[in-house]
Amino acid sequence: MTVNILFSAQDDLWGAYKDELPAALSAQGVTAQINPDMPAAQTDYIVYAPNPALTNFAPFTRTKAVLSLWAGVETIVGNATLTQPLCRMVDEGLELGMTEWVVGHVMRHHLGMDRYIHGLKGLWDQTTPPLARDRRVTVLGLGMLGGAAATALASLGFNVTGWSRSPKDIKGVTCLHGVNGLKHALQSAEICVLLLPNTIETENTLNAETLALMPRGAVILNPGRGVLIDDSALLASLESGQIGHATLDVFRIEPLPETHVFWQHPNITVTPHIAADTRPKSASQVIAENIKRSETGQPLLHLVDRTAGY
Ligand code: NAP
Repeated sequence: MTVNILFSAQDDLWGAYKDELPAALSAQGVTAQINPDMPAAQTDYIVYAPNPALTNFAPFTRTKAVLSLWAGVETIVGNATLTQPLCRMVDEGLELGMTEWVVGHVMRHHLGMDRYIHGLKGLWDQTTPPLARDRRVTVLGLGMLGGAAATALASLGFNVTGWSRSPKDIKGVTCLHGVNGLKHALQSAEICVLLLPNTIETENTLNAETLALMPRGAVILNPGRGVLIDDSALLASLESGQIGHATLDVFRIEPLPETHVFWQHPNITVTPHIAADTRPKSASQVIAENIKRSETGQPLLHLVDRTAGY
């Protein structure tokens, strides 16, 4: 089978995929013409990451699917010209990277590592941290990434609660859902990890009211999306001591402006949207498998629910 693929992403991404993608397609038995300039009328599939050059999908009348290189699809899901099926990226590389970022930052706060990194300055204070089983961690969002992070934390012994839209059953994790579920999940969140998508419903999940539900001095880790937190409410709760620290990987405006208060805040750690990256090799395999499925009449994997927005 032979297909024509438009690779539509930021300019610097093509170099990373120009060899991996054909190799992965070839391994699936798919012959492909792939380039960043494929004319719309000839395009069977679009491999897509947000970029200003492609915002109108209407001319792509023969295109069978848009395959996102990103897990989060908020910039494209509401595009009225996009009538083709949209698949998001579910990639082992993303999952592993996110799990490592979450576990690392949970461990930092669980063990109170900053005290020792910054130095006790001669104070022989032998206060020990609790065991993981006595540390309550909440993960908001139990999808591919939140589910994997929650599972990893539970396997280390943490007392993990998770929250999602629909009911879930994850070994070692107390799974909650719905509005009441969020309340309970936050009440036990000594460390709270946000791995929700950016949708109308999830915007400002952490706001003045919900931040107040968390145990005093709680830590927030946000590798999900910037809009999940009301920034002003976060700053106020850091000021009051209700929240002890926030480690933020994602922001309402990216790159985070140099003058932004978050950079200098003593109780905020900024990581510049590096929690989990799509890895070209494994992502190419995901894309290739989906194209093979589509070409052989099987349902596409990782379809975005356009109504739910993720
Ligand atoms: P996913 O598989 O779609 O999972 C999303 C989870 O959020 C699901 O458990 C879903 O519930 C839950 N959810 C959605 N709306 C909700 C609501 N209104 N109330 C309660 N729960 C809700 O997504 P994923 O692959 O895990 O990725 C999660 C997010 O991580 C992405 O959307 C993206 O924003 C972010 N991300 C960040 C980076 C980074 O480098 N920082 C990298 C990749 C992704 P159900 O299970 O009931 O559907």
